[in-house]
Amino acid sequence: MPADSPVAVDRIAGGWLHRYTRSRAIFIRGEQFGKSPLRPRRVHPARRSLGIRAKVRLQHLFFIISLLLSLTVISMTAGNLRGAWDDVSKARGSLEAIEHLQVLLVAAEMASRERGPANGVLGDDLPGDPARRARLKTAREQTDQAFSALQDAMDSAAMPRQGVGRTVGQARAQLIRARAAIDLTAGRPRSVRSPEEIRSAVSQMFGVIDALGPAIITLTNEAQTTYPSAANALMAARLAADLREYAGQLGSQFTVVLTTRQPLSDAEQVAIERLRGRVELLRKQLLERTATLGDRAAVQAAMTDVQSRYFESAIPFVEALATTGLNSGRYGVDTAGFAARYVPDMDAIVALRDVLINEALADARSGLERIHGAALWMAGGGLATLTLLGVTLWMIHRRVVRPLGRTAQLISAIAEGQLDLHVPKPKYRDELADVLNALAVLRQHSETRLALEEERQRLVDQLRDQSNTDFLTGLPNRRGFFELAEHDLTTMHRHGHPVTLAIFDLDHFKQINDTHGHAVGDNVLVEVAALCCRHSRSGDVVARYGGEEFLVLMPYCTLEDGALQADRLRRHIEALRIPLPDGGELHITASFGVEQCLPSDPSIDGVISRADERLYIAKSSGRNRVVSMQAEAD
Ligand code: GH3
Ligand code: MG
Ligand code: MG
Repeated sequence: MPADSPVAVDRIAGGWLHRYTRSRAIFIRGEQFGKSPLRPRRVHPARRSLGIRAKVRLQHLFFIISLLLSLTVISMTAGNLRGAWDDVSKARGSLEAIEHLQVLLVAAEMASRERGPANGVLGDDLPGDPARRARLKTAREQTDQAFSALQDAMDSAAMPRQGVGRTVGQARAQLIRARAAIDLTAGRPRSVRSPEEIRSAVSQMFGVIDALGPAIITLTNEAQTTYPSAANALMAARLAADLREYAGQLGSQFTVVLTTRQPLSDAEQVAIERLRGRVELLRKQLLERTATLGDRAAVQAAMTDVQSRYFESAIPFVEALATTGLNSGRYGVDTAGFAARYVPDMDAIVALRDVLINEALADARSGLERIHGAALWMAGGGLATLTLLGVTLWMIHRRVVRPLGRTAQLISAIAEGQLDLHVPKPKYRDELADVLNALAVLRQHSETRLALEEERQRLVDQLRDQSNTDFLTGLPNRRGFFELAEHDLTTMHRHGHPVTLAIFDLDHFKQINDTHGHAVGDNVLVEVAALCCRHSRSGDVVARYGGEEFLVLMPYCTLEDGALQADRLRRHIEALRIPLPDGGELHITASFGVEQCLPSDPSIDGVISRADERLYIAKSSGRNRVVSMQAEAD
């Protein structure tokens, strides 16, 4: 056994367990006093017998565990719900990002479109064609409307996007600057407008689209991270928007030469080639992207339309113009005619862009529905878990913990003897019902056992009374007298009080029996017993010693007073008249011996024996008298 192992010695004394540990014993033995008395640790026997260590009641333990469990589940559910709610908010925000992107692309398109009428006015001579000016005005109004719609969308956004808003503001400012430059150039006579001046005014309009670029990228990225399924459609929509922009720029390259009716400069040729390359690259990219959306008929139809209208009709037209521009300035078409021929085919690209954006929106909406549904399931699951936990804990408390506590109280009460308790009828047919039923039986057994014990005690008391009582006179018999006298004697001696004993014997009693019969003799004994009781002080003990002999023990009584009391009794007996069956009366007398109880007397036996000697003297000296120690001395 290791030195610090518990309980080396168990010793039960007086219902308490004295427990020692080996380590304590060794430590004490190690002291200089050698075997010091071990100091016991007191443990209640009930605890020892059950091996109880914990102080927490089961009900409290259950309450604590329930509380901890509920708090854990609630916090977990709340965390999950919060996560689900964040997902839903983010998904809503991303859907909004696509909607904003749609409006933004329209605004960009309108800014692009505005370049056509602007070019028309730039190529016009003063005072200018009112119809061209009106077209420019209309185009500008449409652009302004698109930007207003974009601004409204930004202002009413559920998720504020400051970066996007800033970018849109910059694009608007750029638009105002570009328009001012165009108006300034168009307000001068055509003969003094230099190609650089016209190019500069046109390129300012390109700047509007460039300014919107970062906002387009931000919104696309935000939507793609939440809805990967919409990524292809979104990317394709951006490509379509870019294509629309570069197609517009390609057309704008002819504005100057169509206005001045000159061949293309080297720089213009390079720019046209570069834009053609960009447009071709975008076509390939669009074809790849839309191929991944092969199952979407609307996308395929829109892409086919772009191919046939723009790439197979508008592009050959532009290429023919470019070829003409290499050699001469005889294009056979002015800027307005060019716009009327070129611009409508670009609408196919815009249509493709809108189809793609709508596809992305549809993907995002169904994604949002899924995320929303998942969040609802999460909320429902959390609520169901909490409800299940609550119901389970409530059931355990109702079916186990509470009945267990009550049953334990009942068992304790019954163990303490409280048998008038009501044992409730079990509500459910379970293990606790078995316990309650067994408890009812146990209580009944306990009641029966208690009744039997009471009956036995009553019989024992009755038997003891009978064995201590004289059957004829009802006085204490010899045994009863000894029990009472021993007790009185001990008490009197302890406190130093005098005690005196008288013994008396009826004179010539044999003759009464012989003369009048045994029944008369019995009656005499009864009468004498009653007389003695009547004339003795309370606290005196009158007993039948045997035959016709009686004892009177007188506590707080000196020998002298005892002798006087004995003589009073003698005279009462002498005066007693006992009626006889024949109508006569019987006179009786008695002789008394009186003796004081001395502290040296070990028991009452010696005192009786000495008093009996006095009685013998009284008999032999003539009867009907009292003889005490004092009288003998006299
Ligand atoms: P003495 O004066 O010397 O005492 O003479 P005595 O006759 O009284 O004494 P003795 O001892 O000779 O007689 C006692 C008688 O008491 C004998 C017995 O029959 C009678 N006796 C004892 N017990 C009872 C009893 O319970 N009932 C009746 N009727 N007589 C009893
Ligand atoms: Mg006698
Ligand atoms: Mg007698």
